[in-house]
Amino acid sequence: MLFREFSAICEQLEGIRGRLEMIDLISRRLPALSDEELPVFVRFIMGRIFPDWSPEKLGIGPNLLYEGVAYVVGTKKETVIETINRVGEAGFAVEQLLAGKEQTSFFSEELDLVTVYSEFEKIAGTGGKKSQREKLLVVRKLLANADPLEGRYLARIMLEDLRIGVGDGTIREAVARAFGVSPALVEHAVQALNDLGYVARLAKTGEAALKDVHISPFHPVKMMLAQQGSIVSAIGELGIVTAEYKYDGSRFQFHRTGSRSALYSRKLEDVTNALPDVLAILNESTSHDVILDGEVIAIKDNRPLPFQEVLRRFRRKHDISKMQEEVILVPNVFDILYLDGETLIDLPLSERRKRLETAVIRHVAPQLVSDDPAAVTDFYHAALDAGHEGIMIKATESPYTPGMRGKNWLKVKPEVDTIDLAVVGAEWGEGKRAHYFGSFILACQDNGELVTLSKVATGFSDEQLAEAYDLLHDQIVSQSGKEVRFDPELVFEVGYSELQVSSNYPAGFALRFPRFVRIRDDKDITEIETVSSIRERYQRQPNS
Ligand code: AMP
Repeated sequence: MLFREFSAICEQLEGIRGRLEMIDLISRRLPALSDEELPVFVRFIMGRIFPDWSPEKLGIGPNLLYEGVAYVVGTKKETVIETINRVGEAGFAVEQLLAGKEQTSFFSEELDLVTVYSEFEKIAGTGGKKSQREKLLVVRKLLANADPLEGRYLARIMLEDLRIGVGDGTIREAVARAFGVSPALVEHAVQALNDLGYVARLAKTGEAALKDVHISPFHPVKMMLAQQGSIVSAIGELGIVTAEYKYDGSRFQFHRTGSRSALYSRKLEDVTNALPDVLAILNESTSHDVILDGEVIAIKDNRPLPFQEVLRRFRRKHDISKMQEEVILVPNVFDILYLDGETLIDLPLSERRKRLETAVIRHVAPQLVSDDPAAVTDFYHAALDAGHEGIMIKATESPYTPGMRGKNWLKVKPEVDTIDLAVVGAEWGEGKRAHYFGSFILACQDNGELVTLSKVATGFSDEQLAEAYDLLHDQIVSQSGKEVRFDPELVFEVGYSELQVSSNYPAGFALRFPRFVRIRDDKDITEIETVSSIRERYQRQPNS
């Protein structure tokens, strides 16, 4: 498929509001695609490039893209940024700039969907200064061959934000419709394989292929997530429950076959090199081929340290051995998804637990299986006394549902008023903090849109401000006066004394006395609080 055709489909989709109409349009285009084109089409149309399991990142930030565009249209980067600020978004800006470019009679190549993908593949994952140059050359080459509409979508794909509103659900249904297979089977295959592109290819061969999916080691699976719950209502609903301590550390997934092993973070980044000590402990705890799910915590004098200590280790790229001496990390394994070639996610928790106990001899998180609220409450207090966050209550007969947040896993912890929000902008600091950001603009989500809710300027140590600067300065997309805006990726956990109804912020609410608690770079911005859950919080407030 030519990239021109793909862009035309994107433009059509951009003009459609209804989900059913989108499903219809996409499903009619899928059957004609080749085996090679199908996964690329499916991922691109969702604004993604690589399979979700892949730690590969394109690594073309806004700045690099602007530089590339400036070169191709023969202008300055500042002009590109001005155009974006004027039209509101990079895709339209690139389209406009390419349309205004003088037509050159140079040789130009027609872009093809699969060749665009191969170019991205070539430059992904390369690090260092030289790679920035290589990336820039690819950006230039692609944009030089693009017509304005292609430019719109190339720019957006490079920023991994296609803005045509095609979500996972829409694509799953389009795939099911296109190949006459059940949407539930498609969904299940996606949970196991974590790549809708590849699943589309399986769907093309029929239902049998979708039914027989297997997890592959070193293709990380999305983590199963939890929602809030209470002991009494959980037992009321489920009867017998499985309770475990809720460890306040960082989530990991451990993969091993033979002598090869790897660790992945909650966001499925490969953190193997940062955590050699944890890797060694896990390798010594099992002699099987496994995929394990757990939480790693930092320990000092037999007590868990604050979670920030663990995250520092996950991010660490240098001086790893020095850090190992300072902070002792201990994994707590609570689930198993794969054992010696067998995929286990559809087995009930009780059955997975048996396999876990036979395969792993140390560091398995203790459990209490009970239907007695008093016994589970004692367990909860024991968890808090030992310095943990609370407990997790799990439905004993439930499968492992990757990426799903549901009633099968419930977290029970003391109520604290903190909230996870995306960092969408900041203001430069003053005085000795002039080189860092001093206050941050935060947003929650409303049906996939980010809406601002608060600013936060207190609660930071100098070290945390430096850390925030490190994580954010490459994400700046625009600046006006002292204020900058970011390509939103980072999540802050923020404390507050009270929620107030407010017309000052688009979310309709504001935080009273917002105070920075910690950086949550283990969380993705899709996991931030929604306006509707904030409304519920507001209604639960005693004085509302
Ligand atoms: P939260 O981050 O507050 O949404 O709580 C869910 C997180 O608790 C999971 O993603 C894990 O990182 C963590 N966790 C700690 N202990 C457990 C456990 N025993 N079972 C499952 N998740 C746990």
